[in-house]
Amino acid sequence: MSQSIRVAVTGASGRMGQTLISLVNASDRMHLSGAIERPGHDWIGRDVGEAMGGSALGISVTDDAQAAIAGADAVIDFTAPVATIQFAEFAASAGIVHVIGTTGMTDDEIAALDPFTSKATIIRAGNMSLGVNLLTQLTKRVAAALDDDYDIEVIEAHHNQKVDAPSGTALMLGEAAAEGRGVKLSDVADRGRDGITGARKKGDIGFTAIRGGDIIGEHDVMFAAAGERIILRHVASDRTVFARGALKAALWGQGRAPGHYDMLDVLGLSD
Ligand code: NAP
Repeated sequence: MSQSIRVAVTGASGRMGQTLISLVNASDRMHLSGAIERPGHDWIGRDVGEAMGGSALGISVTDDAQAAIAGADAVIDFTAPVATIQFAEFAASAGIVHVIGTTGMTDDEIAALDPFTSKATIIRAGNMSLGVNLLTQLTKRVAAALDDDYDIEVIEAHHNQKVDAPSGTALMLGEAAAEGRGVKLSDVADRGRDGITGARKKGDIGFTAIRGGDIIGEHDVMFAAAGERIILRHVASDRTVFARGALKAALWGQGRAPGHYDMLDVLGLSD
C-alpha cells in the first residue's frame, strides 16, 4: 500500500475547512498534519477535533501557516484570495501540492499565483466536484452545437453567507460556454442586470445569483431560443462532494511536476 501523505488544511474553522478535516481524518491514504487559522482566531492552540465538537485529533490549530505548510505534502485551501496567494508562496518554498478551492479571485490575483507555479504543484478549481466538471464539458459541447439564436444564461443559488457573486462555478460554466461558442467571456458576460437595461444583446452570456438560507450550491446553464429551452443542471446537496474532489487532487498532485492544473486534469476530462 502506498504511504499516507501529510495534509495541512487552511481555514480550519470554516464550512469547507471542517468538512475537509473530517474527510482527511477518515482517509487511509492521508492524515492531517496541520490545521491553520488566521492569527487571533479563538481556535488557535486548541485541538482541532475538539474545537470542531468531536474527539481530539492530536493536532493543535496554528497561525504559523508557513511552518504547517512546510511540514506537509499537500495543503488544501478553501479560504479567501489574499490568504490563498500567501499560502501559495509558502507551498512554493516547501515545493508541495497546493489545492486551491478559494473562489472570487480577480484576474490579477490569479496572475499573482504565476511566480509560484514553477515550484508548487497548484491545482485550482472554482468547483472540485466530479459532477460540475462533467457539466462544464457538456456546456462547452452544447454551446458549440448551437448558434447564438440560443441565449445562454447561467443561474446559480448559494447560502446566505457566500461573499462572492457570480460563484466561481458559474464563471467556470460561463467560460466553458464561451469557449464552445468561440468567444471570450469578458467580451460577452452580462453580470448584474438592474433598471432599464434595454433588450438582451444577442450573443451575451448572462449571470444571475440567488442567495438564501443554507443552499449548498445549484447551477443551471440555460440555452433559450424561440420555442424551446435546454437546461443543464447540477445540484450539490452535500459539501463533501467538493472536499472529496480536493482530496483526490491532493493525491493526484503527488510526484507531479510543478505547474498550474485544474480539476479537468485531475479527472482526466481535459480535451
Ligand atoms: P467559510 O465558512 O467562511 O470559511 C472560510 C475560512 O477561511 C474561515 O475559516 C476563515 O477564517 C478563513 N479565512 C478567510 N480569510 C482568511 C485570511 N485572510 N487568512 C486566513 N484565513 C482566512 O467559507 P466556506 O464556505 O468554507 O468557503 C471558503 C471558500 O471556498 C470560498 O471562497 C468558497 O466560495 C469556496 N468554495 C469552493 C468550492 C470548490 O469546490 N472550489 C466549494 C465550496 C466553497 P475566519 O473565520 O477567521 O474569517
